[in-house]
Amino acid sequence: MKIKTTKTLHTRCNVCRSKHSTCKPSKENPDVCKYCFKKKLICVKYKPQYIEQEIVRLNQVVYEKDQEIKSLHKQLITFQLLKQQVESLFTIIELE
Ligand SMILES: [Zn+2]
Ligand SMILES: [Zn+2]
Repeated sequence: MKIKTTKTLHTRCNVCRSKHSTCKPSKENPDVCKYCFKKKLICVKYKPQYIEQEIVRLNQVVYEKDQEIKSLHKQLITFQLLKQQVESLFTIIELE
């Protein structure tokens, strides 16, 4: 299945997309389309391609953070072990 990549599909706002109607910027406010302006709706335009890219990017960020957390967790365990060793060393010193 091929996804249509016409210019209108890319520039349609969320409302027009769901209504399957044409989306054209209003004269009064170019950031808001005619339909949204008339109905006083929030006009959000986004490109599906952009959303896909954003999802890919966010997945990458999540993966990186996950790796970071794992590595930090390892470090924490190492530090805890070190702390235990230092504490046991001090008890030995105190005993002597
Ligand atoms: Zn629209
Ligand atoms: Zn709109």
